[in-house]
Amino acid sequence: MQPDTAIQYVKGIGPAKARLFGKLGVSTIEEACLFIPRRYEDRSRIISIHDARVGQTETIIGEVKLVQVITTRKRNGHIFEVVVDDQTGFISVKWFRYNYKYMKQTFRIGVRAALYGLIEYNQYSRFGKEMYHPEYEILGEEEEGDSTDGHVFEDDSPMGRVVPVYPATEGFPQRVVRELMRRILEQGIPIMPDILPVYIQKQHGLISLQQALQEIHFPETSADVTALNSGTSPAHRRLVFEELYLLELGLAERRRDNQQRHGTAMRTNATLERRLREMLPFQLTKAQEKVLSEIKTDLRVSRPMHRLLQGDVGSGKTIVALISMLVAVENGYQAAIMAPTEVLAEQHFSSIKPFLEKLDLQCLLLKGNLRPKVKAEALSQIASGGVSIVVGTHALIQKGVRFAKLGLAVIDEQHRFGVRQRMDLIFKGLKVRGPSNKVYHPHLLSMSATPIPRSLSLTVYGDLEMSVISELPPGRKPIETKLYYDQDLKKVYHFLEEQIQAGGQAFLVYPLVEESEKLELKAAVEMFEHLQTKVFSHLRLGLVHGRMNSREKDEVMIKFRQRQIQMLVATTVIEVGIDVPTASVMVIEHAERFGLAQLHQLRGRVGRGPILSYCILLAHPPLSKDARERLQVALTSQDGFAIAEADLRLRGPGEFLGTRQAGLPELKVANIIRDAHLLEKAREAAFNTIRKDPQLREPEHLAIKCALNRKWETARQ
Ligand code: ADP
Ligand code: MG
Repeated sequence: MQPDTAIQYVKGIGPAKARLFGKLGVSTIEEACLFIPRRYEDRSRIISIHDARVGQTETIIGEVKLVQVITTRKRNGHIFEVVVDDQTGFISVKWFRYNYKYMKQTFRIGVRAALYGLIEYNQYSRFGKEMYHPEYEILGEEEEGDSTDGHVFEDDSPMGRVVPVYPATEGFPQRVVRELMRRILEQGIPIMPDILPVYIQKQHGLISLQQALQEIHFPETSADVTALNSGTSPAHRRLVFEELYLLELGLAERRRDNQQRHGTAMRTNATLERRLREMLPFQLTKAQEKVLSEIKTDLRVSRPMHRLLQGDVGSGKTIVALISMLVAVENGYQAAIMAPTEVLAEQHFSSIKPFLEKLDLQCLLLKGNLRPKVKAEALSQIASGGVSIVVGTHALIQKGVRFAKLGLAVIDEQHRFGVRQRMDLIFKGLKVRGPSNKVYHPHLLSMSATPIPRSLSLTVYGDLEMSVISELPPGRKPIETKLYYDQDLKKVYHFLEEQIQAGGQAFLVYPLVEESEKLELKAAVEMFEHLQTKVFSHLRLGLVHGRMNSREKDEVMIKFRQRQIQMLVATTVIEVGIDVPTASVMVIEHAERFGLAQLHQLRGRVGRGPILSYCILLAHPPLSKDARERLQVALTSQDGFAIAEADLRLRGPGEFLGTRQAGLPELKVANIIRDAHLLEKAREAAFNTIRKDPQLREPEHLAIKCALNRKWETARQ
């Protein structure tokens, strides 16, 4: 038997049970070992119903005396009630949502049940004490006995000890899961290899793997239940550390590989930059200067830069990118900037072009649906080196695009390109054969306006260098954010009217209908027609959405920028990067459907000029608790990092930036919010390991090398 042996081969499991475990994400022995209980119940103390205190969470055991469904007056409500008696008293146990058939089968009169939950008091009820939706377990016959006093439980009984509660699924009750887990683990734990080098275990005061697994799955009666429940027990610490160590080790390897690639060293005493700065109507902020000098330091070295530039919306990343590109051009290389949408690529192109023309530099725009002749011409310009700066969409990294001598690639709004893996592909795809046929990699600058909390950026981008633009250009006024409900629509229209009469311009973003671009489109088109004909017939409205071809989109955006359009109805295509400094109002329809990061991005489309700007969140009740919280955060904060932290807290790390989606191994035990401090330690340990033994060839590292390969292998699939 091996850690990767399927559990169906464990005695007493078999294919049917294995399928049920499969639903829970457990197919191998190793996965069973890392199937961490959701929580623990201290059942070492069973309390009598008489002594159970209201407001306390208790475990009681008693016999089912009565089972019934109560019909309530409110909206045909039904309550499933079970009355339990342990000879010291009665308690009424109620479920407001339940599967009738299942519950009826489970709670039969006369069976003995263990119940774990909060004891409540209901003055109208016959017995006073009640429990709602408790955890429960029907006890076997062998646990006969009239009271809990002096009852001696069997070793494998679910009572009388600290009991792990696993994630369960329908048709696979807790008691069965726990019993089968016991069978698997009794054979599984002893064969799990302890791969963490001894020096690391010592240095960080970690217990052995076997001991950790034992304590996680079979806690002693004397175990610290609070620590177990908060995931901070020594056993958790050990498993979390190992998982994070492996993750960081993988990132350290990536970084090592990156540092062994050939890049191009550039000189950075650039005249082009000086001339550009003279043309700018503003001075760079301190923060922009700082990140620019960090970038230049990288460019001077003959190792390819791989830097992530983070800066809140409107912090001025584009100009930093442009200056960096000029450095490459001045050194005789080409530079490229890639944007996630055509609208954004076009915007970059039209804002960069005037500067480049004055500097006598050639630039062109490469996007998906160019006419064949235009495209062929563009590709030949790129391949011959006739063009210095190329702006484009992901068409830039498609087949047939060959740069003569690409020196720097900038990826704008890189989080939009999605899967982290693709970043590596981009990196590989841009590899260039240099003059003497030597292969080198261009420098890479990724830019993102989605601020990532530190704990997350370490996990997901731990192999990149990081720069942050930490301040906005001076003179920005905070955006006034207001929340309205659908019944206030008239007020909102009135306000829009006022703003536009005063010379402002507005965005009206139309709702995000999940997974349905079509519906989103319909809503926007219908709304545009309604507004133009019925509400604002005297104003000039425009419509832009993802299904328009790029010429149409282009035309609308240009008109909006030139103020020929006063109100732009749009789908979320305008979410990222759009820069129209004269726009002062952003109305977000169905704001409750947007994620926090998106709300923040959308709001960032206004407030770019010196005028006071507004963001109106239009919500349509009923709102979920989460939606209310999101809107509340958006109302009260405009700091991208604070918003990102809140987003992370609300959504949880998994959804925020699934590591798996990011091309990283899945985290099974660790929670990067809870375990942030361990992450830092694991990271340090991992980077030390790679520094000491870059190829992991030392005997003490062989085991982790294998584990690492396996782990990152599955992540890449
Ligand atoms: P983002 O970081 O969101 O990409 P942009 O690069 O689009 O931000 O810049 C937002 C706006 O701020 C642009 O209109 C840009 O010209 C302007 N801007 C950039 N840097 C400065 C600065 N140092 N002072 C004043 N305005 C600036
Ligand atoms: Mg931008």
